[in-house]
Amino acid sequence: MSLPPPLKNDCFALPPGHHWTPVDEALEALRTALTPIVGTETLPIFRALGRVLAADVTAQRANPPYANSAVDGYAVRAADWPGAGPFTVPLVPGRSAAGAPFLGDIPPGHAVRILTGAMVPAGVDTVLLQEDTSANATEIAFHGPLKPGANIRKAGEDLTKGASALPKGARLRPQDLALLAAIGVSQVTVHTPLRIGVLSTGDEVVNASDPAQPHQIYDANRPMLLAQIAAWGFQPVDLGLVPDNRAALAARLNQGAQQADMILTSGGASAGDEDHVSALLDQTGSLNLWRIAMKPGRPLALGLWEGTPIFGLPGNPVAAFVCAHIFAKPAARALSGEGWQLDQGFTVPAAFTKKMKAGRREYLRARLNADGGAEVFASEGSGRISGLSWATGLVDLPEGERLVQPGDPVRFLPF
Ligand code: AMP
Ligand code: MG
Repeated sequence: MSLPPPLKNDCFALPPGHHWTPVDEALEALRTALTPIVGTETLPIFRALGRVLAADVTAQRANPPYANSAVDGYAVRAADWPGAGPFTVPLVPGRSAAGAPFLGDIPPGHAVRILTGAMVPAGVDTVLLQEDTSANATEIAFHGPLKPGANIRKAGEDLTKGASALPKGARLRPQDLALLAAIGVSQVTVHTPLRIGVLSTGDEVVNASDPAQPHQIYDANRPMLLAQIAAWGFQPVDLGLVPDNRAALAARLNQGAQQADMILTSGGASAGDEDHVSALLDQTGSLNLWRIAMKPGRPLALGLWEGTPIFGLPGNPVAAFVCAHIFAKPAARALSGEGWQLDQGFTVPAAFTKKMKAGRREYLRARLNADGGAEVFASEGSGRISGLSWATGLVDLPEGERLVQPGDPVRFLPF
């Protein structure tokens, strides 16, 4: 197993010159700074679902490996039967079936029975569909004209031997496993899964399974972030809940740095008295407090703890969710070996009115209506978790003062 180079202490530095950094510049900073931090291993394809290829894969064998029939019917040499016919053609005894090829000679002017998937015997080049013929035990009759090569899948028509099949960085899906098997690749070199730790912070936060005092709230972020990580295809690691206590938080981060390759914390990421995530990262000299020109969002605290990248997300669940989706997800992909790729959005008509103020990009909780238009949640209040639950995606409204009206094109980012 090979170990990748560590991240640099200043990897989360943002370009200077902004009071509030635009989202695209923050993403660009992540793109240039983050490289794969996971090792590699070789796995049989049966255990490789969801893994990320660590090397390009080329075909060890052509697909299909030999010319074969696409239908049940009869194989002939097209040049023997020019014109419209009708023709009556003698059959050679025997047949070519899948897994049981016909190995005899086929003299000119003869046909041979052939079944779907069977190797096309030497001496014939065209297959007649059974339904287009009438046959008895010794001969078949059909009308021309014949199309040479009809109903035959050529050797290598999908992939030739040595052709590139899947690129490094591809996350293997069921259909990719089919492709690998078909081209004779039974094991693959993949990255070890990126383990992402999730840690909640706050004196007011308690586990949903525990009784809550009147001044306490339930930990909504941890189940949410752990589930987001699993949904993105990474390995979630539950690092629990810690109070606003610097020593306790440091101890838990130490543990997290052992158990995870990347850590998402929520809460305590600003610059207040009880914002211990940012304070601890500051002590390592790696802290960058990101002030992103976006809504929802507050400072994000990014840094390294024992070499492990930490994304200090805001405590507010809506902001934590959106910041995780917009920043942590592409960052995790880059760290996992998948390479830099942002989610694909699509343009839909707005089904809402919204007055945009200057200076901030906004991500609205949204869902598509029956006409394919984007509706947004009635309240933009960042404490409204029900709006997050109602939404199936975000409407991404770029910075700039303007009035967005029904029918205007907007970008929808599905979750
Ligand atoms: P903070 O970022 O720590 O200032 O927290 C911002 C807001 O998010 C506060 O109202 C917190 O009570 C709330 N909050 C912090 N952590 C969580 C959590 N794990 N679940 C739900 N709300 C939280
Ligand atoms: Mg807090």
